[in-house]
Amino acid sequence: MLSLSTTGIIGIPLFVILYLIYRRMPKAGSPLFRLGYMLYTRTKVGYFYHRRELAKARQKYDDGHSVAQMAEFDGLRIIPIPIIMDNYCYLIVDDRTQTGILVDPADPDLILPVLKKESVNIVAVLCTHKHWDHSGGNSTFKRLYSNIKIYGGAVDRAQAVTHPVADGDVLDFSGLKFTVNFTPGHTVGHVVYTLNGAPFNAPDSLFSGDHLFLAGCGRMFEGSSTTMLRSLDVLCAMKDDTLVWPGHEYAKDNLEFCLTIEPNNDATMAKKAWVTEQRKNRISTCPSTIGEERRYNVFLRTGESSIWETLGLDNDTESERDTIRVKALSLLRQRKDKFKYKL
Ligand SMILES: [Zn+2]
Repeated sequence: MLSLSTTGIIGIPLFVILYLIYRRMPKAGSPLFRLGYMLYTRTKVGYFYHRRELAKARQKYDDGHSVAQMAEFDGLRIIPIPIIMDNYCYLIVDDRTQTGILVDPADPDLILPVLKKESVNIVAVLCTHKHWDHSGGNSTFKRLYSNIKIYGGAVDRAQAVTHPVADGDVLDFSGLKFTVNFTPGHTVGHVVYTLNGAPFNAPDSLFSGDHLFLAGCGRMFEGSSTTMLRSLDVLCAMKDDTLVWPGHEYAKDNLEFCLTIEPNNDATMAKKAWVTEQRKNRISTCPSTIGEERRYNVFLRTGESSIWETLGLDNDTESERDTIRVKALSLLRQRKDKFKYKL
């Protein structure tokens, strides 16, 4: 780890670079972007940046960025824990065994009191990807719980992972059974976890990290549109009633963007009205369902000819359907990256 004095000397310019990347978003692939992104993901500078973000969030929110709502089924509880500026960690509790699983617990100081209150036995952390706002708590949990298993994508190599996972792996924690899907695009090794709800008379629950959000998808930091589309299609094929628990509270901005692409989509308008009401009181908007997402999430609707028309792809009749879908996804992502800064 860098010493404090070293951090002082080199930290400020590096933080400036990271600030430019995450607030100004230089074009992905530009030299500045590549440099800052490398520092964030591969060096301790990323950790210091993460710690700064935690401190900023504490100053801004006394009690979390959102009011979380627990989902309760027969012997199963899923508790979203709002952390940092707009992230969600999830605590999944099997009430029959008091077994607990954490997804992306990046701010242990906020999560540990919840664990104490619920008196659960935490046996595992499921990490979706290497970015610090998702993996930044892994080391702490590994240190505090001697028998804990930290799962994460084998390709991403997130910090402190003890059990690398790959596509199709099934993780069984005394009846809490998760299937791993490899979903590269946001990072090269991003994975998502789907909890089998059947033993609890519940729908399945997808913990989608930064791959899929309510009405959005993650930025393609480390993957092409072709890769991202393939990964999104994996989720799109899931059952309609699958609950979607995303890594961030981005619903309002995402739906506003979707309306710029499909201004007359009734499902988008209805969801936007509901989300706006929820957010007036900072109430969490998760979960949605895969069935809902297919109706309004433009990143899952790249096969719609009306969207091709909006994007100027309607004359591209020579291309294969999947080729047009890749182009559509690429254009949608470019527009979304710019849209955020017009709000
Ligand atoms: Zn991320």
